[in-house]
Amino acid sequence: MIMVKKNLTTDDGLLSLLSGSDDEALFAEARRIREEIYGDAVYLRGLIEFTNYCKNNCCYCGIRAGNAKLPRYRLDKETILDRCRLGYSLGFMTFVLQGGEDPYFDGPKGDDRLCDIVSAIHDEFPDCAITLSVGERSRESYKRLRDAGARRYLLRQEAASAELYRRLHPAEMLPENRLRCLYDLKDLGYQVGAGLMVGVPGQSLEHLLEDLKFMQKLQPDMIGIGPYLQHADTPLGKLEDSAEQRRDRLQLTLRLLAILRLLFPYALIPSTTALASIDPAGRTLGLRAGANVVMPNLSPATVRDKYTIYENKLSSGAEAAEQKLALEQIVSGAGYQIVSDIGDVKRG
Ligand code: SAH
Repeated sequence: MIMVKKNLTTDDGLLSLLSGSDDEALFAEARRIREEIYGDAVYLRGLIEFTNYCKNNCCYCGIRAGNAKLPRYRLDKETILDRCRLGYSLGFMTFVLQGGEDPYFDGPKGDDRLCDIVSAIHDEFPDCAITLSVGERSRESYKRLRDAGARRYLLRQEAASAELYRRLHPAEMLPENRLRCLYDLKDLGYQVGAGLMVGVPGQSLEHLLEDLKFMQKLQPDMIGIGPYLQHADTPLGKLEDSAEQRRDRLQLTLRLLAILRLLFPYALIPSTTALASIDPAGRTLGLRAGANVVMPNLSPATVRDKYTIYENKLSSGAEAAEQKLALEQIVSGAGYQIVSDIGDVKRG
């Protein structure tokens, strides 16, 4: 324990923890801290993937504009509201609207459309939190959405290293704009979620260290991480990827998750779908490494197989909002309890 704490304070120490010098002590310490602050509570978020249209061409992502094979969909306001109603009846008090950067929601007209959806949810569920995750927008647009009732925003920095960010994205996506968005969101009073994929091609442990330092500056309220998973219809999806590499990515994700819990004791950290997708035990392992949030899929069943940011993405069983009992069993098996609560960050 003493070694873990000491390692958190230096670059070499963090690199040593990331390379797996002391996993069991690291996970135990992460659980101790999460229990000190959040007890055994696990917060629920209902994830509504409301559009898979995207104008971007991120090199890792299956819903990139260039993937002509993917059937596209967009949910209308009534469908989204229906999913919130179902979620609310199941005890969900946070709705996360996630999507690609859909041109239909661009510009002032697009803002009107998105604000209309946000304010309709806000009017009907005033005791719930609305989280948006729709990528990079102007400060003005973020302000309008905040005024319409959005309270949280998830925008992973993906890579704090500008050099790695540029390698993972097309030339028109600038690392400085990603950071500008995150600081604008903070400044506008959103609870902000940052994060990254672990083990994306070209990422080293030193890159992860840069991410940790960036987040120490940003001080996000939420931090979402998951293992990188391939999609064949992307530029990065053609690389070799063995079962052993996937096992290593799972383990590295768990280590980073535990380190995040210790560096950001108050953060809301989900045990993500990507963790559950890479290994049947992934969600449990995430909870045992310090995660305190689960985000089952609340999208209509008819579109769930179309939000394929990576292949073999789970959207059934405990990953589906309707199967809350299955999820409750997993969470209680890990030693925790799902609570019906808005689940805001508990700042020290
Ligand atoms: N367009 C939104 C939402 C993107 S999807 C945005 O830009 O924020 C949410 C997250 O899924 C992304 O931030 C990314 O980190 C993750 N993701 C995308 N492709 C992935 C892949 N192949 N493997 C694992 N995670 C992926």
